[in-house]
Amino acid sequence: MIKLLTFLSILIMLNSCSTYDEYAGMVNVQHTDPNILVDLKYKGSDNITGKPLYKKNMPALLRQATANRLADANRRATVYGYRILVWDAYRPQEAQIALWEASGKKAGYVADPYTKPSLHTKGVAVDVTLAYPDGTTVVMPTKFDDFSHKAAPSTFQPNPLVRRNLRILREVMTESGFQHIKTEWWHFLDQNFEKYETIPKIDS
Ligand SMILES: [Zn+2]
Repeated sequence: MIKLLTFLSILIMLNSCSTYDEYAGMVNVQHTDPNILVDLKYKGSDNITGKPLYKKNMPALLRQATANRLADANRRATVYGYRILVWDAYRPQEAQIALWEASGKKAGYVADPYTKPSLHTKGVAVDVTLAYPDGTTVVMPTKFDDFSHKAAPSTFQPNPLVRRNLRILREVMTESGFQHIKTEWWHFLDQNFEKYETIPKIDS
């Protein structure tokens, strides 16, 4: 029995050390709500830098209070037959610098890491869309990281389904305590973001 318990505790230790789960007050959002879908775009090379910015075992990390809000938004999305899908959550500062350089230093779309830290580096901003129960994403105004006027939530959308999806996303997120921004329909920030500081570099 003691041997079994020792074996189990080693297994638990190995598991907790093998990912970034629970780092600096942040949690893996899928531990808060396993029904939230995650597809971190910066794990692969299909992003504006053309290379992976995150390690393969990087989960979607957020402050616990922010993850709770996202779980609430996911519950609200379920009412419409949708799930929340996360494209980006906590973003290490070095990844923010790479994005800033690759974007051509477009301050309206990527926060200048040297003068105004991104709320992603504080674990209180999240990039999301809606998906069907099987994980297929719904139609929205643009793809992720479209740095054009088409990504602005105020841009008129001729497709009524796009308008409806956008309205539902905005509704479930704002009713759960997130704020939206003028330039990117997928970007939301915890309404209490001012309480939080940039998170130091993860050494792993
Ligand atoms: Zn964002």
